Amino acid sequence: MKSPITRKITLIIILISFGSILISGLFINFSLNRQFQKYLSRVETARENQVINILAQIYLENGGWPQHPTLLGMGRDFFLERLFYITDADGNVVLYTRMGMLRRNQRPDLLKPRPIVIGEKTVGTAYFGKSPMENVLTQQNVLFRRTINRSILLSIIVTGLISFVVAILFGRRLANPIRAMNRTAKAMAKGNLDTRVRDLPRDELGQLGESLNTLADSLKYVQTLRQQMTANVAHDLRTPLATIQSHLEGMIDDVIPASNDNLESLLDEVKRLSGLVEDLQEIAQADQAIHRFTLEPIDLEEFLSVLINKKTPLFAEKGLNLQFVSTGPVQLTGDRKSLNKIMDNLLSNAHKYTAPGGQVTVTLSHTPDNVHIEVADTGIGISETDLPYIFERFYRTDQSRNRESGGFGLGLTIVKELVEALGGTISVQSQPGKGSTFTITFTCPSSEGDHPS
Ligand code: ADP
Repeated sequence: MKSPITRKITLIIILISFGSILISGLFINFSLNRQFQKYLSRVETARENQVINILAQIYLENGGWPQHPTLLGMGRDFFLERLFYITDADGNVVLYTRMGMLRRNQRPDLLKPRPIVIGEKTVGTAYFGKSPMENVLTQQNVLFRRTINRSILLSIIVTGLISFVVAILFGRRLANPIRAMNRTAKAMAKGNLDTRVRDLPRDELGQLGESLNTLADSLKYVQTLRQQMTANVAHDLRTPLATIQSHLEGMIDDVIPASNDNLESLLDEVKRLSGLVEDLQEIAQADQAIHRFTLEPIDLEEFLSVLINKKTPLFAEKGLNLQFVSTGPVQLTGDRKSLNKIMDNLLSNAHKYTAPGGQVTVTLSHTPDNVHIEVADTGIGISETDLPYIFERFYRTDQSRNRESGGFGLGLTIVKELVEALGGTISVQSQPGKGSTFTITFTCPSSEGDHPS
């Protein structure tokens, strides 16, 4: 028993079993004794009553007590064995027994007086001594109690041994998962996030162990994410920075002309970098849950139609038809800036990944409980293998990575984080070669005064 917790559990179990045997032993002992005493006193009183009746009979038969103290010997000795003497109403001894004579020196305060009543009149008092029967019974009682006590002692020893074995086994069973969790927590604190607690019991301790495992999973996930993020940011910064650097060096060395075209292409790279920094800032805010939303009632139908009108020329430039379909006006309490960002990212993806001649449709609809905004395109679609990951940070499909127009893989991450921060959900359906549909759902339309965040 090296572990203090096993020792403690064992000790507690042993103490509890010892204590309960001891308490129940004492209790049995006490109540048996009481019953015995009650029984004895009932027997004694019954016998005394019999004697008192006989004495009353004697009184009546003789028309009173003898004038002088007289020895009572009427062959009824068995009944009279405990009777010492009888006094009349004035306290003078009128009758005495052989026992009374033999034990003349008995202290009167050790005798038990019982009144002899005839009709309503007390005609005398009978004095009884201790019953010899009582002695016998008391001896039996003592013997009985001794046997009980011996059995109690024996059961304490036997139960003690059993509870010791049970306590050790049980204590180990109870302490093992605690020790395992302790080891895992210490390993985690040292940075080893691969250890897990195994063979967990199906109780609160097991749940605690599972929580610890989940914590390790999350920490591992965050660690991986952080490593990936740093690597991705470094990678995404390197290419545009290298381009800018080589171009600027070329211009300084007069190898590359500082023409408007060249400067504009450099400006594009700088803008792309600014975009990346902005996206990273947005994600950092989401991580710290410090979005500063300005919640206000928004007429979604109007909001979307204005936005789409603004975007239509850009889509038309690429030969895309951008269309807005609405089933009617919908009020939503939300943050305009965030909704703008969400729609901007979704529409910019639809624009990027749909070939000229394609169709992009934004549909606004609602049920009594939900508002749906759908962005559907007839673009390149997303393969089934990529679909589960597209909302992850820096995730880009191979198709998009090979394109020049591809972003940094942060757009959908930001969309998802903003939608969720506003209390909504986002889902996607896509078929490669046919197109993709992103659906945002906000619950509780604010026409009833609620807002989704
Ligand atoms: P990016 O900035 O690279 O577009 P996103 O996070 O917005 O990053 O999207 C992640 C990936 O999901 C993209 O690289 C692209 O492969 C895919 N994707 C997103 N939207 C669409 C779409 N409408 N059609 C096809 N593929 C899409």
